[in-house]
Amino acid sequence: MRRPLIIGNWKMNTNISDAVVLATVIRDGVEDISNVEIVICPPAIWLTEVSEIIHKNIGHLGLGAQNIHYLTDGSYTGEVSATMVRDVAKYVIIGHSERRNSFAETNGIVARKVAAALDAGLVPIVCVGEKKKSEKSAVEIVKQLKESLVGINKNELEQIVVAYEPVWAVGADEPATPEYSAQIINQLRAIVSPQTPIIYGGDVSSGNIYSFMQRPEIDGVLVGRESLNGQNFIKLCRIVAEYKKII
Ligand code: PEP
Repeated sequence: MRRPLIIGNWKMNTNISDAVVLATVIRDGVEDISNVEIVICPPAIWLTEVSEIIHKNIGHLGLGAQNIHYLTDGSYTGEVSATMVRDVAKYVIIGHSERRNSFAETNGIVARKVAAALDAGLVPIVCVGEKKKSEKSAVEIVKQLKESLVGINKNELEQIVVAYEPVWAVGADEPATPEYSAQIINQLRAIVSPQTPIIYGGDVSSGNIYSFMQRPEIDGVLVGRESLNGQNFIKLCRIVAEYKKII
């Protein structure tokens, strides 16, 4: 059975004291939630500090980076490699739409990063999604995922997480419907392993997460804004746990 997952992407938010407080609140608030894997992804600069707070990925609360370079080391000012991240974190978000759009990350670059993450023993959370909703969306997203996974073998596909995030829903006030998301996810499922968790992201909140979690195709959620409020994030984790236990 695939594990239910909830991932919080803090993006370029928090200062050091916010990060410490938020990580502590989340650690304490999810202590008793056992059947869900919870991942928080702070800015790279706070990873070490947060890893101390959440006891270095022990148990069901894990830590993720938001990005890596695809090379291990060298003259790449400002970059962080997978081999650096693996000392403190277990996961890494790769190919988020904000990186694809603002930093010109192509599917080819994403595929190299996925390979680097797997080589380093990290779990890549590979993000895909269409910019605009159209009749061709499914075809576009399937192509995007295939190209983002070039060179990844069958066994490795079991080690990844896929996040379906329609770009028009990320950071917006309009989530995709669970039915539409499930339809897209069904098509992505054919590309990966039956073991690969596929999650949804885009304007998830406590008001709509129930409907996503009722769909067996959707293994969890990737949350942006709501992950910056400790109590809201804990509430979402509880809902994922509650719904995925009974389905
Ligand atoms: C995201 O950043 O991936 C995201 C889904 O953001 P939000 O939940 O704020 O829409």
